[in-house]
Amino acid sequence: MTINVHGYATHSAQDDLIPFRFERRDPRPNDVVIDILFCGVCHSDLHQAHNDWGGSIYPMVPGHEIIGRVVGVGSQVTRFKLGDPVGIGCMVDSCQHCTPCKKGLEQYCEEVATFTYNSIDRHDNTPTYGGYSDKIVVSDKFVVKIPEGLDMKGAAPLLCAGITTYSPLRHWQVSKGSNVAVIGLGGLGHMALKLAKAMGADVTLFTRSPGKEEDARRLGADKVVLSTDQSQMASVNGQFDLIIDTVPNVHDLNPYLPSLALDGTLVLVGYLGGLEPMLNTVPLILGRKSVAGSVIGGIAETQEMLDFCGKHNITSDIEEIKIQDINAAYQRMLKSDVKYRFVIDMASLKE
Ligand code: NAP
Ligand code: ZN
Repeated sequence: MTINVHGYATHSAQDDLIPFRFERRDPRPNDVVIDILFCGVCHSDLHQAHNDWGGSIYPMVPGHEIIGRVVGVGSQVTRFKLGDPVGIGCMVDSCQHCTPCKKGLEQYCEEVATFTYNSIDRHDNTPTYGGYSDKIVVSDKFVVKIPEGLDMKGAAPLLCAGITTYSPLRHWQVSKGSNVAVIGLGGLGHMALKLAKAMGADVTLFTRSPGKEEDARRLGADKVVLSTDQSQMASVNGQFDLIIDTVPNVHDLNPYLPSLALDGTLVLVGYLGGLEPMLNTVPLILGRKSVAGSVIGGIAETQEMLDFCGKHNITSDIEEIKIQDINAAYQRMLKSDVKYRFVIDMASLKE
């Protein structure tokens, strides 16, 4: 027996997303069945739908910022019951026995985690399909609890944009008095501002867009630097302990390195690929500075982030859309025209 699901899929890198019917597996003993209420739209959805990273599997049902309610549990599931508000992020499984998995760092699984979509299930070799759909079946270890009182729509983007920025903030031990900068005010960037501020940091936004200053300050920035203005760039020389770079495309990192403090780190979370132009190592060597990378966060850390957001009442600033608007939303995201995350109301699938 299988579960019939209604969703939206793209069938090639050039196609729009269109309605798609498919089946989900009958729950295994440790599976949770979830009715999806909302799903955020991440720039990674767009990269993978368009095959920007190569190796995309079609048909593809994107979506890894999933919020829903439990409607079924397998016989061995004890942590969840019917009706619980839950979330699913970018991963639905991992090997569970390598060193990173044992440390709760499933995102760095040595055998590569099973991603929520555009991946192959490690047990039955079927493709995984994501959250632009009305139901999902996921192993209980990869399901997280949504804290009481957190707005469900606004919580959806926490499952990727939230954890992807929370994890480096924690890894580089940001706390009261840290000096943090964020490059790019989009989905990830706006969460980074909110989270860094809530951790007590002094927060700066680097943006190439004049006109985002007021929003940035409302979202938690103490200072805004227009990255196209050399005098503004020079005004922050030597300041930052951590810079989180969320820019999705290839871009020049060199102008940002002077703004790192001694021992400071610029962590890339946005762009995957070769750097162009090349990095000049002089500021790195002379200032013991680092350029690093980071991908999402582990499941335990995702729960920790959600609990942190529950405590500080942090959610994403969203624009709610219907699933029928998804192709237009992708076009707008390409133009950075989103404040600051599209979230699909999955009830619209019935229209
Ligand atoms: P987004 O909402 O489109 O925001 C990206 C922001 O970057 C834009 O709002 C813009 O901000 C800036 N930007 C865009 N193009 C730029 C360019 N060519 N040069 C300089 N700045 C540019 O995207 P998102 O959903 O936040 O995702 C950002 C990236 O993170 C994507 O590549 C996504 O795939 C990746 N990602 C990585 C992880 C991970 O685990 N590492 C997880 C999720 C997403 P301004 O207008 O303020 O300059
Ligand atoms: Zn994402």
